[in-house]
Amino acid sequence: MNTTETTINTNTLDREVLGAVAAESLAKIDPARADAKRWTKAIAKAVIAIENNPFMSYDAATHSLLILSEQSGEIYTANGVCQCRAFQLGQPCYHRCAARLVAICLERMAR
Ligand SMILES: [Zn+2]
Repeated sequence: MNTTETTINTNTLDREVLGAVAAESLAKIDPARADAKRWTKAIAKAVIAIENNPFMSYDAATHSLLILSEQSGEIYTANGVCQCRAFQLGQPCYHRCAARLVAICLERMAR
């Protein structure tokens, strides 16, 4: 495999696997957390973006998700850290949720 082949368009992910991974992630949110609601929303938004945003790709070499935000017009690279405003404020963001969901999906699909 050459390096250009490590980039995966998230539209090609198996939607059943994605749905299962998202459901598990939602179930893991501790409702006692102050930001539980924000995480719930971020995961829901991440799933919608993974399925519908054509400008989202995952780089398996660097384990990071490239996202062109349709809201801000900016490009984010999320892999645990993010460049968006929510992340700067210490809040959950859908970019990081999406990066994690895609990583888990790819792991499962590779089995
Ligand atoms: Zn973000």
